[in-house]
Amino acid sequence: DMLGAEQHGLVISRFGQHADIEDSDGLVVRCDIRRTVSSLVCGDQVLWREAKQESDKRRGVVEAVQERHSQLTRPDYYDGVKIVASNIDQVFVVSSVLPDFSDQIIDRYIIAAEDMGITPTLVVNKIELADERQRQHIDERLAYYQKLGYPTLTISCKQQLGTDQLLPKLNNQVSIFVGQSGVGKSSLINQLIPDAAVDVGDISENSGLGQHTTTASRMLTFPGGGRLIDSPGVREFGLWHLTPEQVINGYIEFLPLISQCKFRDCKHQNDPGCAVRAALEAGDIPQFRFDNYHKIINSMEENRSNRTFVR
Ligand code: GDP
Ligand code: ZN
Repeated sequence: DMLGAEQHGLVISRFGQHADIEDSDGLVVRCDIRRTVSSLVCGDQVLWREAKQESDKRRGVVEAVQERHSQLTRPDYYDGVKIVASNIDQVFVVSSVLPDFSDQIIDRYIIAAEDMGITPTLVVNKIELADERQRQHIDERLAYYQKLGYPTLTISCKQQLGTDQLLPKLNNQVSIFVGQSGVGKSSLINQLIPDAAVDVGDISENSGLGQHTTTASRMLTFPGGGRLIDSPGVREFGLWHLTPEQVINGYIEFLPLISQCKFRDCKHQNDPGCAVRAALEAGDIPQFRFDNYHKIINSMEENRSNRTFVR
């Protein structure tokens, strides 16, 4: 056999028929993937073997994937669901003052994070652009999210404000940054990992295989040792098809109330004896959360007639 002993590794990049594995010394080895490995994604812990090479370029073969403690999935037309990334500990929902600060979009990301069993941290970027009125509105929303148990942070990548408060939260964790395009996720990554681009270059330099421009997903390392998974799939997080059960599970303040609604099939709208509406009227649930819940549910019902899947 031309293969070495089985060892542990971490998938830090996944592209085409290959994966880059980080070995226990923190070195990167480009690997082929056994056909018996049905899916392999960034964040996976694997068993792999080193291939004996004539040249000094290290190569290997991924033999098996170890059990995942969490997985980010999306609907898939062929397979039902497709795994995008695995073993994620933290979700940072990034929004910004410009494009418009939208609590409805934040709610959607919260739903998706709660569905993974993760309590997201809410980050609002470009805070230096907010005038007094916008700032007051944002602070009011964030105060409510904080009351729900979601940590919040206002930052400015441009002015390098608040980003230092993010760093300690990233240590010893595998994180993802999610949010709409244009909110400043890439800027944030570059600020937190000054050599992010160099890092990627280093990997291909070490393995001698050149820049892989078709990288589908990659794992970056923060200066404090924390990890970040970044991929096109991760960036689409929160925009996938949701079920009504997933939506209500993202409205954690509604959950203890719904068993008190008079009717089991209560829509929590104008239904008689609705405990959620009663909480709204009592001022315990803010109007924006109530409205967003119904907007999201209604948008799902519109979609149901011509349901489309993301491939
Ligand atoms: P992404 O699509 O979420 O990755 O967003 P980018 O990082 O590409 O940023 C989108 C735009 O927002 C770029 O033009 C950035 O320069 C700009 N941007 C990022 N952070 C800030 C900030 O704190 N303030 C301002 N004014 N612009 C920012
Ligand atoms: Zn109800």
